[in-house]
Amino acid sequence: MIGTVERAHARIDRAALAQNVRRIAATAGSARVVAVVKADAYGHGAVACSRIAINAGAGALAVHTIAEAEQLRMHGLTAPIIVMGPLSGGEWVRAGETAVEVVTWTPEGVYAAVESGVAGVHLELDSGMGRLGARAEDIPALSDAAVASGASVVGIMTHFATADDRDGDQAGFFGEQLVRFRAAATALAQTFPTARIHAANSAATFRDPRAVFDMVRCGIALYGCSPFHEDPAALGLVPVMTVMSYVAMVKTIRSRDSVGYGRTWRAQRGTRIGLVPVGYADGYARALGNNADALVDGRRVPVVGAVSMDQITVDLGPESTDGVGAPVVLLGGTGPQRITAEELALRRGTINYEVTCGISQRLPRVYVG
Ligand SMILES: *Cc1c(COP(=O)(O)O)cnc(C)c1O
Repeated sequence: MIGTVERAHARIDRAALAQNVRRIAATAGSARVVAVVKADAYGHGAVACSRIAINAGAGALAVHTIAEAEQLRMHGLTAPIIVMGPLSGGEWVRAGETAVEVVTWTPEGVYAAVESGVAGVHLELDSGMGRLGARAEDIPALSDAAVASGASVVGIMTHFATADDRDGDQAGFFGEQLVRFRAAATALAQTFPTARIHAANSAATFRDPRAVFDMVRCGIALYGCSPFHEDPAALGLVPVMTVMSYVAMVKTIRSRDSVGYGRTWRAQRGTRIGLVPVGYADGYARALGNNADALVDGRRVPVVGAVSMDQITVDLGPESTDGVGAPVVLLGGTGPQRITAEELALRRGTINYEVTCGISQRLPRVYVG
């Protein structure tokens, strides 16, 4: 049979993304929604997702690197862009040229920002994450530098370490960070009264209205994944990405025959094996070998054998009638038969973020809806 379907692609549902933006906006009340589109919109395509998010009501975009911001400007996005990661050397010049807002936490950063002529500065406070951000004792010098340099301070921000942990052993730390940040931000806001105060990622936005302040920075929820690692439907979020392929070959094997590298799986009975031409080079993690299900024509079947670079194999079952060309969903789907990023993450021992970010550029993104 000459195939009529392409090998595989990642389908991106525009309507689902827009719906998630509105769901976040409803949760955040009057606060501005910043669509976090770093890492190519968590694998969903930054340019397309930025346009959809802005049209659906997001007030700004956030990325990690200056190159990510340049890509958005090059494609005509004029919304405010916040570059959240550190900048060095020539990146400051590019930040000025790109008219982005930057995040800084040191006096040197404030002066570099002013010199480069960026559109605005967000002062980041480390309220307990222990990564980027000024510690309490360094805030006075940061504030003084911002005043002395005449910086346009448009934001006062922090980031939570445990917002996703609602009832685990670190659940209480979220409240501690919130208290520390609120005190420090309120004090700084005396000096910078027009700055927007912001702290919440997706988890904090849905977890606690007190974390919302003037603006929320949401990534994972935009893409319809749960920041709490549960079924996203529990928060009214709709998964945006579907990874689709097809059965490219079907073969009948005998009991005790093995399938794939290392012979990690052997048939307990004669059965029919379907070959799906997607592998770890596409971002279908090797850890999913003998450890995940796929939907073949909407029916859940186990992935058997090792995940190769370009291929996986599924056990269609001895009675199956699926032929070459049967549609395969590796991530996504609707109804009870769906495979969420949360499910694949649990199987792999990771989080949903890594599942969608990991879908490689070899899979074309196809926008629908
Ligand atoms: C990535 C990031 C976010 C978005 O986090 P989600 O959990 O995806 O909503 C918010 N703020 C900062 C500083 C980030 O780096």
